[in-house]
Amino acid sequence: MTRTRIPGTRFLHSPGPTHLPDAVLAAMARQPMDLADPRVADTIMACEAGLKRLLRTVDGEVFFYAANGHGAWEVVIQNLLAPGALALVPGTGHFSDSWAVQCQALDREVLRTPWAEGRPIDTEAVAQLLRDDRERRIAAVLMVHTDTASGITSDIDAMRAAMDASGHPALLVVDAVASLGAAPLAMDSQRIDVVVGASQKGLMLPPGVGFVAVNAAAQAVAQANPTPRFYWDWTRRAGAMPYNKFCGTPPLNLMAGMEAGLGLLFEEGLEAVFDRHRHLSAAVHAAVEAWSREGAVGFFCTEPSARSVSVTAIRTAPGTDPDAIRRIARERFDVSIAGGLGPLAGRVFRIGHLGDVNAPMVLGALAGVEAAMTVLGVPYGRDGVAAAVSRLASVTSAGPL
Ligand SMILES: *Cc1c(COP(=O)(O)O)cnc(C)c1O
Repeated sequence: MTRTRIPGTRFLHSPGPTHLPDAVLAAMARQPMDLADPRVADTIMACEAGLKRLLRTVDGEVFFYAANGHGAWEVVIQNLLAPGALALVPGTGHFSDSWAVQCQALDREVLRTPWAEGRPIDTEAVAQLLRDDRERRIAAVLMVHTDTASGITSDIDAMRAAMDASGHPALLVVDAVASLGAAPLAMDSQRIDVVVGASQKGLMLPPGVGFVAVNAAAQAVAQANPTPRFYWDWTRRAGAMPYNKFCGTPPLNLMAGMEAGLGLLFEEGLEAVFDRHRHLSAAVHAAVEAWSREGAVGFFCTEPSARSVSVTAIRTAPGTDPDAIRRIARERFDVSIAGGLGPLAGRVFRIGHLGDVNAPMVLGALAGVEAAMTVLGVPYGRDGVAAAVSRLASVTSAGPL
């Protein structure tokens, strides 16, 4: 069913791309500038400084790419993995699997730890592989912070501690694509060597910019890596000129949007942004808890402390089609949610609650999902929205959510 006009607002609750703030849309609605215009360099430098502030890094260098998250993954692979070096990819779901497959496609050897459905990364299994690596061939641990497919966030500090305890010098690389701007991360104090990000999730931008933040240790590993590379080589982006920084023409409008989006995060205050995500995700979790009483739907993530503040994956029992719920939610109630990826296709649906979202948007999305389940006759605990309202009403902070 295709309608030519949709009145009101369509609720976009995929975990990326996410809803765009008006200020970001306005910042991008401009004519491109000639590359010598000083505003080009100013915008890029503002984005660099803003990302460093968001990532809480003084030492890290930020490198941008006109690319999506997969492009930023490739940056890590090409810069850090020399011939003969191993990547250790801790299993956490579809995204860690995809990153590992990308490494292999680029002829890199990969060690993986298995992932257990509904569980965060097994850091003990990671430590064991590091301890077993007597020849020190593992160059880097490629960790997905929030696995967007399963709605599971693994603990960076626990990973760092496991790596430290093993005594192995491998770099810690964290894919924060789905958590950046939603959950706290402190690159320097958590001793993360490389952070990987992309524009279209918590940063509230359209897709199209990928980036990495890289510390001195990771830069040294890249320096010593003879792998032929050009576009992905971050040392080629170290120049001062905007053209050099992007290895060609910068995606100017997206960078203008990024400057505006970062400005919104700082204006709200990072602590407030993270609190908002915590409270809104808790409201979604309260709803799912209520829904799950009838057995047809429930949390995919079985460890409550690992449930993401960005996205919630909801598994369905055999006989309940998650894609039918999605379709009805979108077609009849204008609520767009996401489906299952990889091995979870046809087994889960996902509600995104990151980025430019507030309480009524989350309540509206939950109500749309309830309406879709009602249309389909899916048995669910009827007081999901009420549970979310109660959870939001219990928040005592002064400002709006
Ligand atoms: C979305 C996502 C990616 C991939 O980003 P694309 O822009 O779709 O290539 C990588 N990692 C995580 C954790 C993600 O959520």
